[in-house]
Amino acid sequence: MTLNVANLVRTAINQSGNLLLSPPVGGFGYYRNSGPRTERKIALTFDDGPSLPCTEELVAVMDAMNVKGTFFCVGFNVSCHPDLTRRMFEKGHVIGNHSQFHRRSGSLMPGNDGSHIDESERVITEVIGSRPRLYRPPWGWLTPWEASRLIQRDYHIIGWDVYTLDWVMPAPDGVLMAEKARRDTRPGSILLFHDGVSMQSQWEKRETTRAISHIVPALRAEGYEFVTVPELLNIPAYSPI
Ligand SMILES: [Zn+2]
Repeated sequence: MTLNVANLVRTAINQSGNLLLSPPVGGFGYYRNSGPRTERKIALTFDDGPSLPCTEELVAVMDAMNVKGTFFCVGFNVSCHPDLTRRMFEKGHVIGNHSQFHRRSGSLMPGNDGSHIDESERVITEVIGSRPRLYRPPWGWLTPWEASRLIQRDYHIIGWDVYTLDWVMPAPDGVLMAEKARRDTRPGSILLFHDGVSMQSQWEKRETTRAISHIVPALRAEGYEFVTVPELLNIPAYSPI
């Protein structure tokens, strides 16, 4: 009984948090959730990696289709796979910051020192030689205090307007996920997927890779062009060290 109550409370907190703090509605107006609605340009984004083999498999499929993604990487995961991260960067995929340890606690409150942002930035910068300027908060939760820490550090805060459930375990069918995401996509959309699991060096995400293999030709057939988030929003991806 106690466990059930605890689960109910946790669910209520998660749902209210998502509504208040997450895209597409929450986040107090600090998120960029889409690009211009006037052009058929869209961006694929991936959170929580890199992990192996999933990120490597996904990137191979994307490279074969000549699509560049925007990857919001967890600092811990980057330190597990520096060579993979560097190869992605060199091929033109964009590397953004998704915090060092993907923790929700603390980073939302006033008075936090921002070390979860800075530590991940340091790890990514060491690996790719450029300082990331795109940030997506872990869990997609953003408070005004965290937004102010990010703005002070010159970050663009990136959300999404097309959400997928590819993080659920076991993963939903990739083709069905892709079809739902395709129906939700509009000009300027930023689509959310996951290429790993935070704090896990090894992971498999075949359904996400299947979803991407399916959605790219399907949306191209509708006249959409895939670009990176900085291209979509006309903002810099990096700044020099
Ligand atoms: Zn995440």
